[in-house]
Amino acid sequence: MTLKNSERIVMKRDAFLPVRGLARSGALFSFDERKNVDRLAAKPLRLKFVKGQVGAEGFAVGASIVFAPLLLGDLKVCKTSRPLTMADFQRGVALSEKELHGMHRAVAKKLPDVVSLIFSAQIMMLKDRTLLGAVEALIGRGIAPQEAVRDIVEDYVARFDSMANEYVREKRYDVIDVGRRILANMIGSSELDDRFDGKIVIARELLPSDIMKLSLQNAAGIILLSGGVTAHVAVLARSVNIPLVIANEPRLMNVKNGSCILLDGAMGNISIDPDSDVVRAFRSREASRLDVKRILKTLREETRTKDGVRIVLLANINLLADLAVAKAFKAEGVGLYRSEFPFLLRGDFPSEEEQYVIYRRLVEGMKGREITFRTLDVGGDKMLSYYDGTREANPFLGLRSIRFSLKNRDIFAHQIRAILRAGFDADLRIMFPMISSVDEFVAAREMVAECSRALHLNRRPYQRKPRIGAMIEVPSILAVIEELASTADFLSIGTNDLIQYMLAVDRTNEKVAEFYFPHHPAVLRGIKRVVDAASLYQRDISICGDMAHDPRYIPFFIGIGVRKFSLDASYLPKIQHSVNTIDTRKATLFAADLLTKSSVTETAELFDR
Ligand code: PEP
Ligand code: MG
Repeated sequence: MTLKNSERIVMKRDAFLPVRGLARSGALFSFDERKNVDRLAAKPLRLKFVKGQVGAEGFAVGASIVFAPLLLGDLKVCKTSRPLTMADFQRGVALSEKELHGMHRAVAKKLPDVVSLIFSAQIMMLKDRTLLGAVEALIGRGIAPQEAVRDIVEDYVARFDSMANEYVREKRYDVIDVGRRILANMIGSSELDDRFDGKIVIARELLPSDIMKLSLQNAAGIILLSGGVTAHVAVLARSVNIPLVIANEPRLMNVKNGSCILLDGAMGNISIDPDSDVVRAFRSREASRLDVKRILKTLREETRTKDGVRIVLLANINLLADLAVAKAFKAEGVGLYRSEFPFLLRGDFPSEEEQYVIYRRLVEGMKGREITFRTLDVGGDKMLSYYDGTREANPFLGLRSIRFSLKNRDIFAHQIRAILRAGFDADLRIMFPMISSVDEFVAAREMVAECSRALHLNRRPYQRKPRIGAMIEVPSILAVIEELASTADFLSIGTNDLIQYMLAVDRTNEKVAEFYFPHHPAVLRGIKRVVDAASLYQRDISICGDMAHDPRYIPFFIGIGVRKFSLDASYLPKIQHSVNTIDTRKATLFAADLLTKSSVTETAELFDR
């Protein structure tokens, strides 16, 4: 039995492992544990327990299934009691189309901003006369329909495989999937769409679109062998409420399908074939945490510290589906809308109109409250599958984020116009990601001015006075932060990337997770410098990276003067409760003490105390 999605919303807990554990040893294992694991790896022992990192919190128990892309071998040609005919094939196609349209409608309801991606390629294939005509021609020549489908699908797969463009090559999976669906529908089998229902999916790697498909099939949980906790597939898993644990343990791929797995996405623990007592204990422990009513009762409209200082908690929104949780958990607005998700989950660039529709829903959903749109932040681990130019040797240091927007001015202009139009009546803020120099900020802001002029000439309603700010996530900007603060309307610190670039640690690489120190003195002092610059010019400053999800860091932030945080919505109750226990005077002393420390060990000890 598994938990419902709605129940998982409130199960989020610490996203980071204990700081001391991080500082002393490694994020996944202590040194001694690692030696043990190495020893175990040499023996053919049955895997019982794996410690991983929390990607998306929550708890799930279910049967395991290893996720693998579809292969031609999955095109099983079933035996039937009677020979199949052309009419069976045509019925199979019609039923498949109906099914895909039904699924499309279901997603449109649940995830309106990403719907177009998921089924459109397959629906197009079912309408493709060349493909269908080729199958019909074979059937016409006396080949059995199921053989004809398989032959033509194989033919298409061979053609896709020979393409230079990776995005086109990926279509091989769609055509196999379509073939499977037609074959199943020809013989009236209906086992296609529940492959992952209630299951714990084990995958070596996943694309954002895979996360969406798993969500649609109600997968109970995901174990991912690669990636870091701030990687964007993990961010997406949080938005669709699927617990996800990242574990660099290749033997997980050998776990037999159907094994019982207990996924504790609060601690990052994976138990394989756990005792029934353990499962029972977990279920009862989680039941008390799932008490949404209790949590809502304790939540206040406004957040204050113990000594009454007002703190503003905003929500990070990745998908429009996050809005409901944000509102239920009293977000005072949106501090970071990750606008790239609709771009990531599609087959092509969304038009200005398509973006406008999504952005307008966001604005209406948060009526009257502040909304910060972050402009397109692609590149790194957020590749656009349909944009060839983004394939680079070092994508994290490549043409990404604001650089991409400034180089692709049409795409940038469409987005800015859509934002200005959607926010014509809102407290609208536009924020540029990965600003590395004042010049870059000024160039990006100039684009907003240009778009405003164009909208004015077109006589369309638009926001004339958006506040324009910068994300602080590239270390170079720290050296000119005072100048940037004097120029920008607001600043927001993206700790995920700031840590990654300051410490030269890939945030998506589990092999270096043990070097990813949010508490590194350079990070803490860098953040302090930004907050001081903002205060010097009386600019709004907020924290919007994952450090704000961890109650251990909140006293430090409050102690250096941060009064605004933007969090993934499900963390709002936990952080409000944490703020309520903080005394600002004590927090100031705590932060001052921390800032005198120069080693990772010392800061870790203070945070852990
Ligand atoms: C960050 O870098 O901290 C951030 C909030 O942006 P993202 O996680 O989307 O890169
Ligand atoms: Mg970032």
